[in-house]
Parts: sequence; C-alpha cells; structure tokens
Amino acid sequence: MAETNNNLIQGKNGLWEIVMGLEVHAQISSQSKLFSGAAADFGAEPNTQVSLVDAAMPGMLPVINAFCIEQAIKTGLGLNATINLKSVFDRKNYFYPDLPAGYQISQYLYPIVGSGYLTIDLANGQSKKIRITRLHLEQDAGKSIHDQHPHKTYVDLNRAGIALMEIVSEPDLRSAEEVAAYLKKLRMIMRYLKTCDGNMEEGSMRCDINVSVRHPGGNLGTRCEIKNVNSIRFAQQAIDYEARRQIDILENGGTIEQETRLFDANKGTTRTMRSKEHAPDYRYFPDPDLLPLLLKKEEVQRLKDTLIELPDAKKQRLIDQYALSAYDATVLVSEPEIATYYEKLLSKKRDPKVAANWLIVELFGYLNKIGKTIVESPISPEQLGELVDLIGAGVLSGKMAKDVFVEMAETGQAAGQIVSKRGLQQVTNSKEIERIIQQVLQSNPDKVAEYKSGKDKLFGFFVGQVMKASDGKANPALLNELLKKALS
Ligand code: ADP
Ligand code: MG
Repeated sequence: MAETNNNLIQGKNGLWEIVMGLEVHAQISSQSKLFSGAAADFGAEPNTQVSLVDAAMPGMLPVINAFCIEQAIKTGLGLNATINLKSVFDRKNYFYPDLPAGYQISQYLYPIVGSGYLTIDLANGQSKKIRITRLHLEQDAGKSIHDQHPHKTYVDLNRAGIALMEIVSEPDLRSAEEVAAYLKKLRMIMRYLKTCDGNMEEGSMRCDINVSVRHPGGNLGTRCEIKNVNSIRFAQQAIDYEARRQIDILENGGTIEQETRLFDANKGTTRTMRSKEHAPDYRYFPDPDLLPLLLKKEEVQRLKDTLIELPDAKKQRLIDQYALSAYDATVLVSEPEIATYYEKLLSKKRDPKVAANWLIVELFGYLNKIGKTIVESPISPEQLGELVDLIGAGVLSGKMAKDVFVEMAETGQAAGQIVSKRGLQQVTNSKEIERIIQQVLQSNPDKVAEYKSGKDKLFGFFVGQVMKASDGKANPALLNELLKKALS
C-alpha cells in the first residue's frame, strides 16, 4: 500500500481515505485544582496534594475555581469558538480504583465552549481549517501505580481533581501529517495563551485519536478510538498502523467493531482495550452539588480584550510589517518567547532580515549546541542588537561578528567591549587597505604577471593575502573594489 500525494492509500481494489477526529485532554495551567484548593504541581511526592474533596470524603462539597473557568474561556476564544453563557457540570459515573468518588465531574450536554476552528499549516504550503466541535471542562482522575510492588497496585491521588479541558474536533483530519499539524497548532495556541503548557511527556496534553477509513466520497466508516496517545510521533505511528489494520479487515470482507484501542509504543501496534462504551453506560446526570455555570457577556468580553496576538495573526503581521519570508515568520512565531525576543531586537530600528538571520541561524544554532532555550539565552536581545548595529555601521564584517558572537555567549561581555578589548575594528580606511594591497602585489610579482595575462582566478588568491595581512579586519567590499583598481 503506497500513499498518494493527496493522502489516499492504494488498496487491493481501490483507494482508501483515512478520516480522523481528535479528543485532546489539556491540563489547565493553574496552581490549584478545578474544585479544590489543593496544589496542582507536577512531580510531587505521591498523595501530598490531595484535599478532602479530591479524596471524595463524604459530605465534601466541590467549589469551582474561577481561574480555571477563565482559562477555558480564553482557550475557547483562541479557537475562534462560541462561549456558552450557560453550561452545566455532570457526573460521569464509572468505577476505577483511582477515581474515589465513583464518578468524574465533567460537562456533557452543555459544555462551556461550543463550535470553533483552528487553521493548520501543511508541508506543501497550504493551510486547512479544522473544525472544533466543543471544549468542555472536567476533572482528571488519580493514577494507579503498578510497578512499585510485585503484587500490589498503589494509588496516587495527586492528579485527582486537576482541571482538564477536553477539546473535541470534527472528523476533518485526513492524514497523520494533518494530525501532527493539528496537535502542534493547538499546543502553540495554548502556550501563547498560557492556558496549558502542552507538555506531552509530563502528560499535560494527551489525545484520543478516532480513526476510520472509507472509499473517497463514501459514508463515514466505523471508527476505533486510540486512547491516551502522549507524543506526536506516537500519534503518527498509531495512525499508520490502525489505518492499515482497518483496510486489511475490510478488504478481506470483515467489518470494523467500534472499540477503544491502546497504542503499544514498543511494538508500534494498537490492540483492543475494551469494546466502545456509550453515553448511557455512564448515566450522566447534572451534579447536584454544582449550580449551572452562568457567565456574563461582559466577563467574556473583558477576557477577549486582554487576549494577546495569536500565532497566525502574528505571523501575518511579521510578513506584512517587516517583509519577512513565510519561512522566517513561521520560525519566529513558533514559540511566543521567540517572537518577543525578535520584536525586542527590532525595538531600535534595525534591518528586519539581518536581525532575523542572526536570531534564526546564529543564536538558535548556538542555543541548540548548548541545549538551552531562548528564555535561557546567554545573549539578550539588547546585546544581540548591539552586535547587529556594529555590523550595520561597518565596524565589524559578518565573519568578525561571528567570532565576537561566540565570545559574547561564552563571557557575557557586550559586543562593543570585546571589539575594543581585542582591537577588532574593521579596517575601512582606504589608504590603509591600499598600502596592504601594494605590499602584497610587490611580494608576488609572478602572480601579478599571470593574473594580467588572463588567469582571473588569481583574484581570490590576492583577496586572501590582503585579508591575512590585515588580520582579517579589512572591509571585504572595500578590499574588493580597491584590489580591482590596483590590478587593472
Ligand atoms: P465519544 O465520547 O463517544 O468518544 P465524542 O463525540 O466525544 O464521542 O468524540 C467523537 C470523536 O470522534 C470526535 O472527535 C469526532 O470527530 C470523531 N469521529 C466521529 N465519527 C468519526 C468517524 N466515523 N471516523 C473518525 N472519527 C470520527
Ligand atoms: Mg471519546
């Protein structure tokens, strides 16, 4: 089975299309939990962040965390979605050892956020809108720990009650690439908004992938749901495997059973976890301890007014305002901190393209090498700006600036300091350069003769010699010009 360029898969007797919708669980960035004041930090000692509400002690009442509500609204706004002024918390009933209440508080018929969309960018340069069905609030469950004792399972309730947003998409995704782009864009939006850190390794963002296959243009096929995928790479592997599994079954005359499957990262396969449970199995009903959540239009508007510029808008603005290429703009908006760094760099009038190059090529290259992020950069935007200015003013050539850059990163010294300490002034004095040129020509009379008899290639040799004699400080453009004159 080979994939064609429009995402279709060639089967034994016809083409197949993969159809997917995602349910993403995003942990809300918040110091405390959705219905209790217990801390929500990652990595604490087991059962040290558990209130009586989280442990479901009899008679405890949940109290809604207003900050978490704001976070959900902001995320909804970032997804171009309707904010529902009335939403309802329901109990979703099921038994699990790490769910002490025997139910999870979630939202079912009336979620806080209704339909919206986000735009994904694809490798072929095209973009595509993916519709969001809804976003609802719910509590996370605790964790069962199976690997601490040979025949006991422990329960850690630190995670119990932590606020999650479940973000459900329409079945608009057609390939593993689109799913990866969707997850990246969703994560980027939430990082900009600071509503979820999107850290998939720590489990603060995980997704259920609903996969079905059909012949193009046909009715939707029966879907299987792959649960709790916690990396983009795994998502892609799981989809590839699952689509092929379903196509094989259908081509051999079988039918797909709707079920919940697990991805096995070691084998790269999916396997049955349980047959699909349906809403009635959970006996959803409004939580009698919580009133419907009513929002005021003005509150939503206030949050809308404070919303920061999001990646798509920022990218377009960088392109329009600074005439950057789409590639540069994409890199610069990939994290909000990078865009901020870049615009600080431009806060004093500087060439946008030169500044972007120094950031994307030199600074990123260096940060990559030392394993640091932009926030930990040893060179501040002000410092990098000074270096860019020295190049603009003709004090440093590009090559000299690269040496100064490394020294800045290693010593924390300012560019100007390094330049004066090392006497690094670029030579822009024509008399001085002419003097060196004459020296070089006089000590290479045979090469000069060869050049004059037509061996043009020797020009580079003379450039090298003059550069060397000037300790690399001669201004390259001036050197070229004066050398041509001297040799003509
Ligand atoms: P459930 O809670 O039963 O999983 P939801 O409505 O919460 O149901 O989620 C359904 C998800 O499955 C949505 O993301 C939706 O886009 C997706 N989906 C629905 N039908 C199909 C289908 N035939 N193929 C692939 N995905 C589908
Ligand atoms: Mg589901």
